[in-house]
Amino acid sequence: MKKDSLVVREELLRQVKRVVVKIGSNVLTAGSDVLHKEVFRNIAKNISSIKKDGYEAIIVSSGAVAAGRKSLTCIEQPVSIPQKQASAAIGQVRLMRLYEDCFNAHGDHTAQVLLTHDALSDRKKFLNARNTLFTLLHCGIIPIINENDSVVVDEIKFGDNDILSALVTNLVDADLLLILTDRDGLYAQDPQCCEDAVLIKVVEKITKEVENLAKGSSSSAGTGGMISKVDAAKKVSIYGIPTIVVNGNTKN
Ligand code: GLU
Repeated sequence: MKKDSLVVREELLRQVKRVVVKIGSNVLTAGSDVLHKEVFRNIAKNISSIKKDGYEAIIVSSGAVAAGRKSLTCIEQPVSIPQKQASAAIGQVRLMRLYEDCFNAHGDHTAQVLLTHDALSDRKKFLNARNTLFTLLHCGIIPIINENDSVVVDEIKFGDNDILSALVTNLVDADLLLILTDRDGLYAQDPQCCEDAVLIKVVEKITKEVENLAKGSSSSAGTGGMISKVDAAKKVSIYGIPTIVVNGNTKN
């Protein structure tokens, strides 16, 4: 008999100790064009609370471009890649300031780690990043990772912190990848056009059919959309690690 989806979820969660939490720009801005402090407060409250319960969390956060956009006063709307890179350079400071302030309120501290995909495919750099992250976790500091947008082009173009979060999950041997986005998850129909689109509660295997569903879902979630979340889930599933996609705008 097929197990109830909630039972499957509970069984998976029971084995989790270390979790990578990926947070998209649309969550951090609550759909607006600036970072929303209340969202950061909610995230910090929840992550500090699970940390007290013995979990380890590593955050992969977007939001740098969104945070810096308004300060490029010489340009109305940053559209070119160098303009987005400049926005990210400005916004990354703000992003980290918000995280640090909100986590401090719960007695926690954060650390910024900027990575690139190619750094993670170099064995030496992979091990260096891993050692840094394990040291931070050992000291009880919450690592906050973003793409080093100022030095990469492809990732900023295709918006791929989803894929970065999958690489980080492997890098730190996490037990779960949790993706916070602006949708409740993967739907059987496009929720943008279909009001009664059905939410798929559990995907046991990422097949071509599942990928096609994700492609058809015009999720406004960041630049990657639902397909890059399914791609990330597929990557970590190779190592037997589950992914949960949830709505990051839901309180607690
Ligand atoms: N790294 C970019 C940022 O922080 C976002 C990339 C993405 O959309 O996933 O703004």
